[in-house]
Amino acid sequence: MIEFHQVSKMFAGKEAVRNLTLHIEKGSFTVLIGTSGSGKSTTLKMINRLVEHDSGEIRFAGEAIESMDARALRRRIGYAIQSIGLFPHWNVARNIATVPALLGWPKAKINQRVEELLALLNLDTQLASRFPHQLSGGQQQRVGVARALAADPELLLMDEPFGALDPVNRQALQQEMLRIQKLSGRTVVLVTHDIDEALTLADQLVLMDGGEIVQQGRPVELLTQPANAFAREFFGRSELGVRLLALGRAGSAARRGEWLDGEPIAATLTLREALSQFIARRTDKLPVTDQQQQPLGVLHFSDLLRQQEAN
Ligand code: ADP
Ligand code: MG
Repeated sequence: MIEFHQVSKMFAGKEAVRNLTLHIEKGSFTVLIGTSGSGKSTTLKMINRLVEHDSGEIRFAGEAIESMDARALRRRIGYAIQSIGLFPHWNVARNIATVPALLGWPKAKINQRVEELLALLNLDTQLASRFPHQLSGGQQQRVGVARALAADPELLLMDEPFGALDPVNRQALQQEMLRIQKLSGRTVVLVTHDIDEALTLADQLVLMDGGEIVQQGRPVELLTQPANAFAREFFGRSELGVRLLALGRAGSAARRGEWLDGEPIAATLTLREALSQFIARRTDKLPVTDQQQQPLGVLHFSDLLRQQEAN
């Protein structure tokens, strides 16, 4: 879907991104992570040409982006950012409908899409007529994501989109994003500096430092086979164990054919969350139910250790 080939970008004589080569698969959830100033936002903005690259080549769906009309390109790409950038004098419905209106969708289709998106992002339909300043931060962020999704773009770029949220809203919106991405099969590229957020969302993780890619691959590869000392330090040796657990699910580690009475945990829970359940309930076995709340199996505390070895 996106190919960077030896791309560089300078600002005022200083290289913000250096010699970047990166392939982003269609349908993938790619997370760019790194320290502040490592070139993540610049990389993202070069994709929709908010920043023009100096050298190298960027292709979008096989076509070099510099030969495309920038506005036409942007209409195929949703963009959501931390500072949200909602239009203050437009109500929620009109904000969400920005791109569909630009594309000249008929009014009825726009209204239907706005309703769909409000539901998808767990926003009350009554909010449609409110103005941005009448919303909470979390609601504004959801509207920002809804707006980015409105014209069903082939690609969604998100720059620290949940950065301003409290932990509860943040986790809820992360789960929402995963669900939306799985449901729609859309390609997402998200920037964050939060390791746990990256591990929750990414199927491809790109670690950047000083304008360069340090390592890219599946999250488990970056955690277990860090390319160098920077990568190892970045993912934190001391917390490596629990971070690895965050990549596994209770459903896949549970022992089938066993059952146990008691309050079950959901198959979708990460093993890290299961670990806190083991500790909170002072037990070494937990029943696990599937999406339909049917018995699936039993997770044993020792399975967490086996999971670590499997990684
Ligand atoms: P990140 O998103 O990883 O924090 P950025 O991509 O925003 O990093 O920035 C990378 C480097 O480029 C930083 O040193 C930053 O100061 C510089 N930079 C980014 N945008 C501009 C700009 N518009 N003008 C000048 N320097 C910039
Ligand atoms: Mg940034």
